[in-house]
Amino acid sequence: MTVPLRGGDGVRRSVRRGIIIEPIADPSLGDSARKARMATRLNPVAEAADILGEPLQGILPPVEWAACADEIAAIRALKRERRALILAHNYMTPDIYFGVADVTGDSLTLARAAQGLDAAVIVMAGVYFMAETVKILNPGRTVLVPDREAGCSLSESITAGDVRELRRRHPGVPVATYVNTSAEVKAESDICCTSSNARRVVESLGAPRVILIPDRYLAANVARETSVEIVTWPGRCVVHERFRPEEIRAIRTDHPEAHVLAHPECPPEVVAEADFSGSTAAMSEYVARRHPDTVVLLTECSMSDNVAAEHPEVHFVRPCNLCPYMKMNTLATIRRALETLRPAVDVPDEVARRARRTVERMLAL
Ligand code: SF4
Repeated sequence: MTVPLRGGDGVRRSVRRGIIIEPIADPSLGDSARKARMATRLNPVAEAADILGEPLQGILPPVEWAACADEIAAIRALKRERRALILAHNYMTPDIYFGVADVTGDSLTLARAAQGLDAAVIVMAGVYFMAETVKILNPGRTVLVPDREAGCSLSESITAGDVRELRRRHPGVPVATYVNTSAEVKAESDICCTSSNARRVVESLGAPRVILIPDRYLAANVARETSVEIVTWPGRCVVHERFRPEEIRAIRTDHPEAHVLAHPECPPEVVAEADFSGSTAAMSEYVARRHPDTVVLLTECSMSDNVAAEHPEVHFVRPCNLCPYMKMNTLATIRRALETLRPAVDVPDEVARRARRTVERMLAL
Protein backbone atom coordinates (compact mmCIF):
# COMPACT_ATOMS: atom_id res chain seq x y z
CA MET A 1 0.00 0.00 0.00
CA THR A 2 1.31 3.49 -0.83
CA VAL A 3 0.60 6.42 1.50
CA PRO A 4 1.34 9.99 0.41
CA LEU A 5 2.70 12.37 3.04
CA ARG A 6 4.22 15.82 3.09
CA GLY A 7 7.43 16.53 5.07
CA GLY A 8 8.46 19.68 6.89
CA ASP A 9 10.14 20.93 3.70
CA GLY A 10 6.76 20.82 1.96
CA VAL A 11 7.92 18.06 -0.39
CA ARG A 12 5.49 15.21 -1.03
CA ARG A 13 6.86 11.77 -0.11
CA SER A 14 5.30 8.35 0.00
CA VAL A 15 5.69 5.37 2.30
CA ARG A 16 5.44 1.84 1.00
CA ARG A 17 6.01 -1.28 3.06
CA GLY A 18 7.59 0.90 5.73
CA ILE A 19 10.15 2.53 3.42
CA ILE A 20 10.18 6.26 2.86
CA ILE A 21 10.63 7.02 -0.82
CA GLU A 22 12.41 10.31 -1.48
CA PRO A 23 11.13 12.37 -4.41
CA ILE A 24 13.36 13.06 -7.39
CA ALA A 25 15.04 16.45 -7.09
CA ASP A 26 15.64 16.89 -10.82
CA PRO A 27 13.01 19.45 -11.91
CA SER A 28 13.58 18.71 -15.62
CA LEU A 29 11.91 15.33 -15.22
CA GLY A 30 8.16 15.06 -15.65
CA ASP A 31 5.72 13.23 -13.41
CA SER A 32 5.97 9.83 -15.05
CA ALA A 33 9.79 9.79 -14.89
CA ARG A 34 9.67 10.85 -11.23
CA LYS A 35 7.09 8.21 -10.39
CA ALA A 36 9.06 5.52 -12.17
CA ARG A 37 12.23 6.45 -10.35
CA MET A 38 10.47 6.59 -6.98
CA ALA A 39 8.71 3.30 -7.52
CA THR A 40 11.94 1.49 -8.26
CA ARG A 41 13.76 2.77 -5.19
CA LEU A 42 12.44 -0.34 -3.44
CA ASN A 43 14.12 -2.52 -6.02
CA PRO A 44 13.41 -6.14 -5.01
CA VAL A 45 12.73 -8.68 -7.73
CA ALA A 46 8.96 -8.47 -7.13
CA GLU A 47 9.10 -4.71 -7.60
CA ALA A 48 10.96 -5.17 -10.88
CA ALA A 49 8.22 -7.52 -12.07
CA ASP A 50 5.59 -4.88 -11.25
CA ILE A 51 7.44 -2.30 -13.27
CA LEU A 52 8.82 -4.27 -16.19
CA GLY A 53 6.22 -6.97 -16.69
CA GLU A 54 7.01 -10.37 -18.11
CA PRO A 55 9.20 -9.79 -21.17
CA LEU A 56 12.55 -9.76 -19.39
CA GLN A 57 11.83 -12.92 -17.39
CA GLY A 58 14.02 -15.74 -18.64
CA ILE A 59 16.34 -13.31 -20.44
CA LEU A 60 18.19 -11.85 -17.48
CA PRO A 61 18.70 -13.71 -14.19
CA PRO A 62 16.25 -12.29 -11.57
CA VAL A 63 18.98 -10.55 -9.60
CA GLU A 64 20.36 -8.72 -12.66
CA TRP A 65 16.84 -8.01 -13.81
CA ALA A 66 15.93 -6.39 -10.52
CA ALA A 67 19.18 -4.43 -10.50
CA CYS A 68 18.44 -2.78 -13.85
CA ALA A 69 14.70 -2.25 -13.26
CA ASP A 70 15.20 1.28 -11.97
CA GLU A 71 17.11 2.38 -15.08
CA ILE A 72 14.73 0.63 -17.48
CA ALA A 73 11.62 2.15 -15.90
CA ALA A 74 13.20 5.62 -15.92
CA ILE A 75 14.22 5.29 -19.58
CA ARG A 76 10.75 4.12 -20.59
CA ALA A 77 9.22 7.14 -18.84
CA LEU A 78 11.75 9.52 -20.42
CA LYS A 79 10.95 8.13 -23.86
CA ARG A 80 7.31 9.04 -23.39
CA GLU A 81 8.12 12.52 -22.13
CA ARG A 82 10.67 13.33 -24.82
CA ARG A 83 8.69 11.66 -27.62
CA ALA A 84 11.80 9.58 -28.15
CA LEU A 85 12.49 6.22 -29.75
CA ILE A 86 15.52 4.01 -29.23
CA LEU A 87 17.16 2.14 -32.08
CA ALA A 88 19.40 -0.65 -30.81
CA HIS A 89 21.97 -2.57 -32.79
CA ASN A 90 22.08 -6.35 -32.44
CA TYR A 91 25.29 -6.00 -30.39
CA MET A 92 23.54 -4.24 -27.51
CA THR A 93 23.38 -6.09 -24.21
CA PRO A 94 20.03 -7.82 -23.40
CA ASP A 95 18.99 -5.21 -20.83
CA ILE A 96 19.07 -2.58 -23.61
CA TYR A 97 17.94 -4.88 -26.43
CA PHE A 98 14.91 -6.30 -24.62
CA GLY A 99 14.41 -3.65 -21.93
CA VAL A 100 14.27 -0.29 -23.71
CA ALA A 101 14.76 -0.64 -27.50
CA ASP A 102 11.92 0.23 -29.90
CA VAL A 103 13.64 -1.06 -33.05
CA THR A 104 16.41 -3.66 -33.09
CA GLY A 105 18.46 -5.00 -35.96
CA ASP A 106 21.55 -4.68 -38.09
CA SER A 107 22.80 -1.48 -39.72
CA LEU A 108 20.55 -1.86 -42.76
CA THR A 109 17.41 -2.53 -40.71
CA LEU A 110 18.09 0.46 -38.49
CA ALA A 111 18.91 2.74 -41.44
CA ARG A 112 15.62 1.80 -43.11
CA ALA A 113 13.64 2.15 -39.87
CA ALA A 114 15.15 5.58 -39.22
CA GLN A 115 13.50 6.94 -42.36
CA GLY A 116 9.94 6.35 -41.22
CA LEU A 117 10.09 7.12 -37.52
CA ASP A 118 7.58 9.41 -35.88
CA ALA A 119 9.67 10.77 -33.01
CA ALA A 120 11.10 14.11 -31.94
CA VAL A 121 14.20 12.43 -30.52
CA ILE A 122 15.99 9.32 -31.73
CA VAL A 123 18.58 7.59 -29.56
CA MET A 124 20.98 5.38 -31.51
CA ALA A 125 22.19 2.69 -29.14
CA GLY A 126 25.17 1.66 -31.20
CA VAL A 127 28.25 3.50 -32.39
CA TYR A 128 28.83 6.99 -33.74
CA PHE A 129 28.73 6.26 -37.47
CA MET A 130 25.30 4.65 -36.99
CA ALA A 131 24.01 7.77 -35.24
CA GLU A 132 25.41 9.89 -38.06
CA THR A 133 23.57 7.74 -40.59
CA VAL A 134 20.32 8.22 -38.67
CA LYS A 135 20.95 11.99 -38.58
CA ILE A 136 21.68 12.07 -42.31
CA LEU A 137 18.30 10.43 -42.97
CA ASN A 138 16.48 12.51 -40.33
CA PRO A 139 18.04 15.98 -40.55
CA GLY A 140 15.17 17.67 -38.70
CA ARG A 141 15.26 15.44 -35.65
CA THR A 142 17.42 15.39 -32.55
CA VAL A 143 19.63 12.31 -32.80
CA LEU A 144 21.49 11.26 -29.67
CA VAL A 145 24.34 8.80 -29.26
CA PRO A 146 24.74 7.65 -25.64
CA ASP A 147 28.56 7.95 -25.71
CA ARG A 148 30.32 10.24 -28.20
CA GLU A 149 33.48 8.11 -27.88
CA ALA A 150 31.74 4.99 -29.22
CA GLY A 151 33.73 4.75 -32.44
CA CYS A 152 34.59 1.83 -34.71
CA SER A 153 37.94 0.53 -35.94
CA LEU A 154 36.59 0.34 -39.50
CA SER A 155 35.14 3.84 -39.49
CA GLU A 156 38.36 5.28 -38.12
CA SER A 157 40.56 3.47 -40.66
CA ILE A 158 39.73 5.83 -43.54
CA THR A 159 39.20 9.55 -44.18
CA ALA A 160 37.51 11.56 -46.92
CA GLY A 161 41.00 12.48 -48.18
CA ASP A 162 41.84 8.77 -48.52
CA VAL A 163 38.76 8.27 -50.73
CA ARG A 164 39.77 11.20 -52.95
CA GLU A 165 43.26 9.69 -53.27
CA LEU A 166 41.77 6.28 -54.21
CA ARG A 167 39.70 7.97 -56.91
CA ARG A 168 42.81 9.71 -58.21
CA ARG A 169 44.64 6.35 -58.39
CA HIS A 170 41.67 4.56 -60.02
CA PRO A 171 40.02 7.13 -62.31
CA GLY A 172 36.45 6.30 -63.31
CA VAL A 173 36.14 3.37 -60.88
CA PRO A 174 32.96 3.68 -58.74
CA VAL A 175 33.25 3.71 -54.94
CA ALA A 176 30.98 1.53 -52.78
CA THR A 177 31.40 2.32 -49.10
CA TYR A 178 30.44 0.17 -46.17
CA VAL A 179 28.04 1.96 -43.80
CA ASN A 180 30.69 1.59 -41.08
CA THR A 181 32.27 4.90 -42.13
CA SER A 182 32.00 8.58 -41.25
CA ALA A 183 29.53 10.94 -42.98
CA GLU A 184 32.50 12.64 -44.72
CA VAL A 185 33.63 9.32 -46.24
CA LYS A 186 30.08 8.48 -47.34
CA ALA A 187 29.83 11.93 -48.93
CA GLU A 188 32.87 11.15 -51.12
CA SER A 189 31.38 7.84 -52.30
CA ASP A 190 28.93 6.73 -55.00
CA ILE A 191 26.86 4.33 -52.92
CA CYS A 192 26.77 2.71 -49.49
CA CYS A 193 26.48 -0.96 -48.63
CA THR A 194 26.05 -3.15 -45.57
CA SER A 195 27.36 -6.63 -44.89
CA SER A 196 24.01 -8.03 -46.02
CA ASN A 197 23.90 -6.33 -49.43
CA ALA A 198 27.56 -5.68 -50.33
CA ARG A 199 27.68 -8.08 -53.27
CA ARG A 200 24.35 -6.81 -54.67
CA VAL A 201 25.53 -3.21 -54.37
CA VAL A 202 28.83 -3.95 -56.11
CA GLU A 203 27.10 -5.73 -58.98
CA SER A 204 24.43 -3.02 -59.27
CA LEU A 205 27.10 -0.54 -60.39
CA GLY A 206 27.58 -2.39 -63.69
CA ALA A 207 31.34 -1.78 -63.71
CA PRO A 208 34.12 -4.33 -64.26
CA ARG A 209 36.04 -2.94 -61.28
CA VAL A 210 34.69 -1.40 -58.04
CA ILE A 211 36.40 0.22 -55.07
CA LEU A 212 34.83 -1.42 -51.98
CA ILE A 213 36.05 0.20 -48.75
CA PRO A 214 37.16 0.16 -45.98
CA ASP A 215 36.93 -3.48 -44.74
CA ARG A 216 39.55 -5.63 -46.43
CA TYR A 217 37.90 -8.84 -45.22
CA LEU A 218 34.38 -7.93 -46.31
CA ALA A 219 35.88 -6.95 -49.66
CA ALA A 220 37.78 -10.25 -49.92
CA ASN A 221 34.64 -12.22 -49.06
CA VAL A 222 32.62 -10.34 -51.70
CA ALA A 223 35.42 -10.82 -54.25
CA ARG A 224 35.08 -14.61 -53.83
CA GLU A 225 31.43 -14.41 -54.88
CA THR A 226 31.49 -12.01 -57.82
CA SER A 227 33.26 -11.57 -61.15
CA VAL A 228 33.66 -7.84 -60.46
CA GLU A 229 37.28 -6.93 -59.68
CA ILE A 230 37.48 -5.41 -56.19
CA VAL A 231 39.89 -2.71 -55.03
CA THR A 232 39.85 -2.27 -51.25
CA TRP A 233 41.46 -0.63 -48.21
CA PRO A 234 43.28 -2.17 -45.21
CA GLY A 235 40.53 -1.49 -42.65
CA ARG A 236 39.57 -4.26 -40.20
CA CYS A 237 36.99 -4.85 -37.51
CA VAL A 238 38.74 -5.46 -34.18
CA VAL A 239 36.04 -7.94 -33.20
CA HIS A 240 35.81 -10.13 -36.30
CA GLU A 241 39.45 -10.14 -37.37
CA ARG A 242 40.31 -12.14 -34.23
CA PHE A 243 38.44 -15.31 -35.16
CA ARG A 244 40.64 -18.12 -36.46
CA PRO A 245 39.90 -21.25 -38.54
CA GLU A 246 41.57 -23.41 -35.86
CA GLU A 247 38.87 -22.24 -33.42
CA ILE A 248 36.17 -23.53 -35.73
CA ARG A 249 37.93 -26.86 -36.18
CA ALA A 250 38.26 -27.24 -32.39
CA ILE A 251 34.54 -26.47 -31.93
CA ARG A 252 33.62 -29.02 -34.60
CA THR A 253 35.64 -31.66 -32.73
CA ASP A 254 33.67 -31.02 -29.53
CA HIS A 255 30.33 -30.25 -31.22
CA PRO A 256 30.22 -32.08 -34.57
CA GLU A 257 26.52 -31.23 -34.93
CA ALA A 258 27.08 -27.47 -34.59
CA HIS A 259 26.08 -25.07 -37.36
CA VAL A 260 28.84 -22.45 -37.64
CA LEU A 261 27.71 -18.99 -38.80
CA ALA A 262 30.34 -16.35 -39.58
CA HIS A 263 29.96 -12.62 -40.08
CA PRO A 264 31.43 -11.42 -43.43
CA GLU A 265 33.82 -9.10 -41.54
CA CYS A 266 35.69 -12.28 -40.49
CA PRO A 267 38.83 -13.22 -42.48
CA PRO A 268 38.06 -15.27 -45.64
CA GLU A 269 39.75 -18.39 -44.23
CA VAL A 270 37.28 -18.27 -41.31
CA VAL A 271 34.28 -17.73 -43.60
CA ALA A 272 35.52 -20.66 -45.72
CA GLU A 273 35.35 -22.97 -42.66
CA ALA A 274 31.84 -21.82 -41.71
CA ASP A 275 28.53 -23.35 -42.82
CA PHE A 276 26.99 -19.97 -43.52
CA SER A 277 28.11 -16.36 -43.75
CA GLY A 278 25.81 -13.37 -43.37
CA SER A 279 25.00 -10.19 -41.54
CA THR A 280 23.69 -10.26 -38.00
CA ALA A 281 20.14 -10.12 -39.39
CA ALA A 282 20.89 -13.04 -41.71
CA MET A 283 22.31 -15.04 -38.78
CA SER A 284 19.13 -14.42 -36.75
CA GLU A 285 16.99 -15.50 -39.68
CA TYR A 286 19.10 -18.65 -40.14
CA VAL A 287 18.53 -19.70 -36.51
CA ALA A 288 14.80 -18.88 -36.70
CA ARG A 289 14.36 -20.78 -39.95
CA ARG A 290 16.61 -23.80 -39.40
CA HIS A 291 16.32 -24.33 -35.62
CA PRO A 292 19.71 -26.08 -35.34
CA ASP A 293 20.32 -28.09 -32.15
CA THR A 294 23.64 -26.32 -31.67
CA VAL A 295 24.86 -23.12 -33.23
CA VAL A 296 27.99 -20.98 -33.17
CA LEU A 297 27.76 -17.30 -34.09
CA LEU A 298 31.20 -15.91 -34.97
CA THR A 299 30.48 -12.31 -34.09
CA GLU A 300 30.10 -9.95 -31.14
CA CYS A 301 29.14 -11.58 -27.82
CA SER A 302 25.81 -9.83 -27.18
CA MET A 303 24.47 -11.05 -30.50
CA SER A 304 24.50 -14.65 -29.20
CA ASP A 305 22.91 -13.54 -25.92
CA ASN A 306 20.04 -11.83 -27.75
CA VAL A 307 19.40 -14.59 -30.27
CA ALA A 308 19.68 -17.23 -27.52
CA ALA A 309 17.02 -15.41 -25.49
CA GLU A 310 14.65 -15.67 -28.45
CA HIS A 311 15.48 -19.34 -29.09
CA PRO A 312 15.83 -21.11 -25.74
CA GLU A 313 15.58 -24.49 -27.50
CA VAL A 314 18.88 -23.91 -29.34
CA HIS A 315 22.24 -24.56 -27.67
CA PHE A 316 24.75 -21.77 -28.32
CA VAL A 317 28.51 -22.37 -28.23
CA ARG A 318 30.07 -18.96 -27.67
CA PRO A 319 33.62 -18.26 -28.83
CA CYS A 320 32.64 -14.59 -29.10
CA ASN A 321 34.60 -11.33 -28.95
CA LEU A 322 33.40 -8.12 -27.28
CA CYS A 323 33.28 -4.84 -29.19
CA PRO A 324 34.72 -2.21 -26.84
CA TYR A 325 32.87 0.56 -28.69
CA MET A 326 29.45 -1.06 -28.60
CA LYS A 327 29.89 -1.76 -24.91
CA MET A 328 30.10 1.99 -24.19
CA ASN A 329 26.31 1.89 -24.47
CA THR A 330 24.76 1.19 -21.08
CA LEU A 331 21.39 1.85 -19.50
CA ALA A 332 23.07 4.66 -17.54
CA THR A 333 24.46 6.40 -20.65
CA ILE A 334 21.14 6.02 -22.49
CA ARG A 335 19.26 7.47 -19.54
CA ARG A 336 21.71 10.38 -19.26
CA ALA A 337 21.36 11.12 -22.98
CA LEU A 338 17.57 11.26 -22.65
CA GLU A 339 17.73 13.43 -19.55
CA THR A 340 20.20 15.95 -21.00
CA LEU A 341 19.45 15.52 -24.75
CA ARG A 342 23.20 15.18 -25.27
CA PRO A 343 25.45 14.24 -26.98
CA ALA A 344 23.47 15.27 -30.06
CA VAL A 345 24.85 14.35 -33.48
CA ASP A 346 25.54 17.20 -35.88
CA VAL A 347 26.47 16.71 -39.55
CA PRO A 348 27.22 19.80 -41.68
CA ASP A 349 24.42 20.36 -44.23
CA GLU A 350 26.53 19.89 -47.37
CA VAL A 351 28.18 16.71 -46.05
CA ALA A 352 24.78 15.38 -44.97
CA ARG A 353 23.26 16.13 -48.39
CA ARG A 354 25.99 14.25 -50.27
CA ALA A 355 26.11 11.37 -47.77
CA ARG A 356 22.30 11.03 -47.87
CA ARG A 357 22.47 10.53 -51.63
CA THR A 358 24.76 7.49 -51.18
CA VAL A 359 22.64 5.95 -48.40
CA GLU A 360 19.38 6.51 -50.31
CA ARG A 361 20.88 5.02 -53.45
CA MET A 362 21.57 1.86 -51.44
CA LEU A 363 18.12 1.85 -49.83
CA ALA A 364 16.50 2.18 -53.27
CA LEU A 365 18.08 -1.09 -54.51
S1 SF4 B 1 31.97 -4.78 -34.07
FE1 SF4 B 1 33.62 -4.10 -35.44
S2 SF4 B 1 32.56 -3.08 -37.12
FE2 SF4 B 1 31.09 -3.22 -35.40
S3 SF4 B 1 31.37 -1.29 -34.27
FE3 SF4 B 1 32.72 -2.80 -33.28
S4 SF4 B 1 34.69 -2.46 -34.31
FE4 SF4 B 1 33.14 -1.49 -35.60
